[in-house]
Amino acid sequence: MSTAKLNPSDCRIAVFEKPDSPLKIQSHAIPEPKEGEVLLKISACTICGSDLHTIAGTRKEKTPTILGHEIIGHVAAMGSDEILDITGTPISTGDRVTWAICMSCGDCSRCETGLPQKCTSVRKYGHEVFDGESGFVGGFAEYILLPRTSAILRIRNNVADEVLCPANCATATVVAACRQVQTINDRDVLIIGGGMLGLTAAAYTKSTGARNITVIEPTEQRRQLCFQFGADKAVTDSSSLDGKYDVILDFSGVSQAIEKCIPHTAIGGSVVLVGSVTPSPGISVDPEFLVRNLVRLVGVHNYHPKDLITAVEFLSLHADNFPFGQLVACSFSLQEINEAVKYALEQKPVRVMVKP
Ligand SMILES: [Zn+2]
Ligand SMILES: [Zn+2]
Repeated sequence: MSTAKLNPSDCRIAVFEKPDSPLKIQSHAIPEPKEGEVLLKISACTICGSDLHTIAGTRKEKTPTILGHEIIGHVAAMGSDEILDITGTPISTGDRVTWAICMSCGDCSRCETGLPQKCTSVRKYGHEVFDGESGFVGGFAEYILLPRTSAILRIRNNVADEVLCPANCATATVVAACRQVQTINDRDVLIIGGGMLGLTAAAYTKSTGARNITVIEPTEQRRQLCFQFGADKAVTDSSSLDGKYDVILDFSGVSQAIEKCIPHTAIGGSVVLVGSVTPSPGISVDPEFLVRNLVRLVGVHNYHPKDLITAVEFLSLHADNFPFGQLVACSFSLQEINEAVKYALEQKPVRVMVKP
């Protein structure tokens, strides 16, 4: 690890090369933004479960890469005089911003039909090859270069980085999942998985007026956390479920759990699958059950930039009602990135933060 003093035109980055080996701290010239690009100085980046899966080798990633995508930063330089955020507000140097995890072209058939999260040339922050020239798009670094057409959102200073970092990952994904459901108000909700997404979903559905919220979560410590995020009931597995649920949200990706929960869908209810993002065993679903009970079964992957606006509004309004800030167990410097990863893998807190 290099602790040598940096040239003022250089910055530090942590590069992931292969699983089960330390991230390499390197110095690199601070990139200059070209037309439409925005250079940000990173304030903080939380380590997501997907980062840990990549580092541990349970998830394949193109390498070398700069991991980290749950980032908050301040605008350091812009490649054009006028760049607008996704609400149409001009961005200026010094602004605090978050941005959608997907980079979309804005021109292809999917972008044009309202599915930019499935753009035919979609790329994702913290998931691209860094070759020294391009791919300066990860959060485990001092700076990040947002390509043209990034969906940037200006944010106020009223909410802490600890609360806002996951906005462009967990929170916006939860908003996208809940957008698939006709109404949450006065409905019974079942959430499978009590990690960052499940806890956020409990808080979000609570604040949207859910009548009753049950979370399935095998870890005792996380079950206790669920109650602080609006859950009325937290159970270890589906065997103790009684009754029916209008809304079932899966963030676990565990096929067996999904299969056992689907029969608990109420008439007219929705099942939204979010967690199944790696090849997993098939499930058996009785089509007659879906038909006779008017059940909607929907998949959600990534999210639309408008979900990020709702996510940040939700966190800004409810940062005091639910202890989101406390989900970040501790904070490390970028130099200590490997200690941060070790802590996250061994202690398994909901989030660990890296502050350059
Ligand atoms: Zn994430
Ligand atoms: Zn596109």
